[in-house]
Amino acid sequence: MTEKSGNDGAFTRQDLYGTVAETTFGGALSFMRRKYSRDLDGVDVAVCGVPFDTATTNRPGARFGPRAVRAASANLAWARPYGWDFDPFDRLAVIDYGDCSFDFGRPENVPAAIEANAKQILDAGAALLSIGGDHFLTYPLLRAHAAKHGKLSLIHFDAHSDTWADEEGRIDHGTMFYHATKEGLVDPARSVQIGLRTVNEDLLGFNILDAPRVHATGVEATAAEIRRIVGDNKVYLTFDIDCLDPCFAPGTGTPVCGGLSSSQALQILKGLAGINLVGMDLVEVAPAYDIGEITALAGATLALEFLCLYAYNRPDRKAAE
Ligand code: MN
Ligand code: MN
Repeated sequence: MTEKSGNDGAFTRQDLYGTVAETTFGGALSFMRRKYSRDLDGVDVAVCGVPFDTATTNRPGARFGPRAVRAASANLAWARPYGWDFDPFDRLAVIDYGDCSFDFGRPENVPAAIEANAKQILDAGAALLSIGGDHFLTYPLLRAHAAKHGKLSLIHFDAHSDTWADEEGRIDHGTMFYHATKEGLVDPARSVQIGLRTVNEDLLGFNILDAPRVHATGVEATAAEIRRIVGDNKVYLTFDIDCLDPCFAPGTGTPVCGGLSSSQALQILKGLAGINLVGMDLVEVAPAYDIGEITALAGATLALEFLCLYAYNRPDRKAAE
């Protein structure tokens, strides 16, 4: 149910549930106009920005991703998301937790800061939707999630495998799933990478649905194969926006031609309804290279789909009261 209300729900709204329409072009920005809060009592999902891009190999700028995705989400927040028969905000109490803070002058300390921030949220019983930031941040996030949930299935959308071999301790957005696999945070045999289109000779045993295969087999077959691979395992979902073709996501650091359309990605995600999702992130939106907010809007829309997937198995709590 959409009710009309005044602006600035990011700090004026009381109820953590529900969709409230605001003037799209005005008002204080938060992700999907959720209330800014650090109070995790009764919260189902905390949305947290991680404005870190020091691990980028090519064009930097994803540190501005959280802000851009929040701004773009204002255009989505006036009604429930299309294509689902429920409003995720009638099922989930969602807050915008603000951004993870860290000392940019001590990059070696950033992974521990991201992990500790995530752990604080997970320990309070909330799930975490993180907005990056470059893709490295998924590594400390996986450490926090695996500590709570055990070894995870990874559903990973990307142009790149991010499993290139590396030395311990390096902070690089192309190698963190190598570290995560060696550390036993994820189970490659029950994990899947979608949209790849760059060469890596050693894929560490991950299941691969590369971009040509998605284009050839279609979205329904892709979603069915992902569901088959992860089964009822606990799933961490990570979406590198460069999985999308540069024409759908120009605003990113390492664009690669031949990627998925935003429509393909959305349809695949809808086809994953029912998976056992425990954590999710959306990374690599770099607004300085964006055009007309294409990339930020795609990022916000995808992140909202993650919330729908997370809400799918849950009852409408407002209706039950
Ligand atoms: Mn990538
Ligand atoms: Mn990546």
